[in-house]
Amino acid sequence: MSQPASPQEALLFWFAENQRDLPWRHEYHPYQVWISEIMLQQTQMDRVTIFFRRWMEEFPDLKTLAAASEHRVLKYWEGLGYYSRARNILKTAQILASEHQGTIPGDRKLLLSLPGIGPYTAGAIASIAYNRDVPVVDANIERILARLLNIDLVPGSPAAKKIFWSKAEELLPAGQARNFNQALMELGALVCRPKNPDCSACPLTLHCLSLKYDIIAERPVPKKSKKIIPIDMATGILIHQGLLYIQQRLADDVWGSLWEFPGGRMEKEETPEQTVVREFLEETEFEVRIESKITTTIHHYTRYRVTLHCFFVQLTQSDSDPVLHAAQDFRWVPFEALQEYAFPAGHRKLISFLEKAGFEI
Ligand code: SF4
Repeated sequence: MSQPASPQEALLFWFAENQRDLPWRHEYHPYQVWISEIMLQQTQMDRVTIFFRRWMEEFPDLKTLAAASEHRVLKYWEGLGYYSRARNILKTAQILASEHQGTIPGDRKLLLSLPGIGPYTAGAIASIAYNRDVPVVDANIERILARLLNIDLVPGSPAAKKIFWSKAEELLPAGQARNFNQALMELGALVCRPKNPDCSACPLTLHCLSLKYDIIAERPVPKKSKKIIPIDMATGILIHQGLLYIQQRLADDVWGSLWEFPGGRMEKEETPEQTVVREFLEETEFEVRIESKITTTIHHYTRYRVTLHCFFVQLTQSDSDPVLHAAQDFRWVPFEALQEYAFPAGHRKLISFLEKAGFEI
């Protein structure tokens, strides 16, 4: 069969034949499209499909979600990272439940006024859920456009953003936004990948300028690579009368409202043990001593590599009520109950380590 004439036709034809079977593609329900799009920001598709199914069992619709506690929502987000996304989902659900009769709007402007919804997500919901003629641009689509149209701008700059959005709008075939935008995303994920694009399987070979000029490796124009910043932290698990101490972080930071064991960043010339003792005193006014070393975990957050030194600690005082200076709440819980709380990834790794080691009090 000869290849269809325009890049739009070629791409739509390819998408019809090659799209993956994803749970939110069955009905294109706006609630499901919205949740999938937020989950897909910063998280791989394989993980998202697992989390998405779990989420839909717990929060099958917007009304159920709007009535849920933040604690429950964060628990179901645990493992996806970037927890502000989960907090914004809950805020948005509550706004939509009280001000929009519990429906997700299809209007781009209205979508942009909601917490956690930027130009990409607004475009994705308007086009994928409602098939409105609204373009989308993310890093995947920037890469395809840069290669296809030979755009020699560094993605991320204001000038480049303007060009990519206007090109995406120009290319969008009227009445086909749902499939066309998804086709671009799918092509970026499966064929026109960041490294080693599979041009032999691409429906756009006849139209691709970078292929024609043999400059694919130079498109998009590479950004200067950012340095990985190492951070050393230490934390302590305090056990008292068979229970573990956990505290809930203040609401307004990056891991706001998640639970944790006290600890923090090591100061200059401090040992991890000294950090733990100091942090307990500063955060809880507990005086503790180190009992034993547990493990060291390493976790990567965007540009940071966090090394977390973990210890068991004991109280050296009789009073077991903390004075909270860096948390909004605390609990003394049995080890098994930790599963009910949402922890940042480093602390969750520590809990998994203890489970695997057969830890018992
Ligand atoms: S021909 Fe190759 S570089 Fe061009 S859009 Fe297709 S996969 Fe990407």
